[in-house]
Amino acid sequence: MKRSIFVACLVVISTAVSARAQQSLDALIDGEIGQLVNTYKMLHAAPELSHYEIKTSTFVATQLRSFGYTVTENVGKYDNPLWKGHGVVAVLKNGAGPTVLVRTDLDALPVEEKTGLPYASTVKTKNDAGQDVSVMHACGHDVHITSLLGAGKMLSQLKDQWRGTLILIGQPAEETIDGAKAMLVGGLYSMIPKPDFLIALHDNAELEAGKVAYCPGFALANSTSVEITIRGLGGHGSKPEATKDPIVVAAQTILALQTIVSRENSPLDPAVVTVGSIHGGSKSNIIPDEVKLLLTVRSYKEEVRQHILASIERITRNIAAAAGIPDDRAPIVKVSDTEVTPATYNDPKLTERVAGALESALGANNVVQWPPIMGSEDFGRFSLDNTIPSCMFWLGAIEPAKVAASKKSGKPLPSLHSSLFEPLPEPTLRTGVKAMTSAVLELMKR
Ligand SMILES: [Zn+2]
Ligand SMILES: [Zn+2]
Repeated sequence: MKRSIFVACLVVISTAVSARAQQSLDALIDGEIGQLVNTYKMLHAAPELSHYEIKTSTFVATQLRSFGYTVTENVGKYDNPLWKGHGVVAVLKNGAGPTVLVRTDLDALPVEEKTGLPYASTVKTKNDAGQDVSVMHACGHDVHITSLLGAGKMLSQLKDQWRGTLILIGQPAEETIDGAKAMLVGGLYSMIPKPDFLIALHDNAELEAGKVAYCPGFALANSTSVEITIRGLGGHGSKPEATKDPIVVAAQTILALQTIVSRENSPLDPAVVTVGSIHGGSKSNIIPDEVKLLLTVRSYKEEVRQHILASIERITRNIAAAAGIPDDRAPIVKVSDTEVTPATYNDPKLTERVAGALESALGANNVVQWPPIMGSEDFGRFSLDNTIPSCMFWLGAIEPAKVAASKKSGKPLPSLHSSLFEPLPEPTLRTGVKAMTSAVLELMKR
């Protein structure tokens, strides 16, 4: 009896302490939110393409340094010598305790913004191919950056509530899924203590601002790009008997590739094979020498990925052989070793802990479970094949009335990467900062 009263008292005290901590966090965010919205709008109007996050990374580094973090810039190394690593690593030590790494991405997309917002991007630049492109934060990485800066500032002011080593990183080139790898190759884990936990957030184009969502286990798919060159024997369009037509072989191949997921793969293992590009020929009456296909392959399990890649090779080769294409003109199947990323696996135990902290901070009604998706992220790379527990949660970014209207009408909202994607700044950032700060405090609490 005595013991249960004692336990009850402890619960009351700890709830009171955490309620007080919540109040002080709310007050801190209230004092900061105006500036955070300004920061977000400034970043939104000044997006930079993957591999060229020069001003963005400098800004993030300068801000974090001003909050008291020890900051290293230009972390990252790509195979392409023309690209510089613009990774930012910021460390705040606060005694003995766990090491927690929080990641934001930094890059934007070659999309022309059409939201009509007063702070819409009008940035134009040249891509690596020398073409003129517009640039937009159409994936909301500006929301992630601002949330990380806000949480970074809060945590620097709440050092009495946590202990350990906090590491905040600004990762370049997420959209091209080679930035996390570049940071690891550039020595990220030799310049910091190996983290005990990794966390990140990504905004969500279907979830209301003010809410967050989590997905234990596989949350995002792995992704592998594949290039197929189907080689034939070209000639005059009026004389097919003298040729081996790669256009017809490409058509047969594309359809046959769709049988990998539908007929060879277990329906219980999600997978996607999409042919996103087909290029061949120059004129109606010429049978060309070759056709190029570009594919994306998605799954959760590595063995499923390996099976799909082997099947693509087998089907492509044999359809060409069936068309009578000689061995020395057999198709070339090239699996990219740069456009490839592992699945994002949210460690179930860590995710449960983070979800609990989010529920305490935001209220249980504002924390929902989200299904896994076949989109991809390279955040999972930092987990070193899931040997470090990691968790990425979703941050609602859309005006609630718009979400309600979309549910009612059935008309989908603009997705991530859309020229019309429009996060609602204040509630989204307030929730992002509070959610990330609370998740870190849970993992590093005294
Ligand atoms: Zn994206
Ligand atoms: Zn993104």
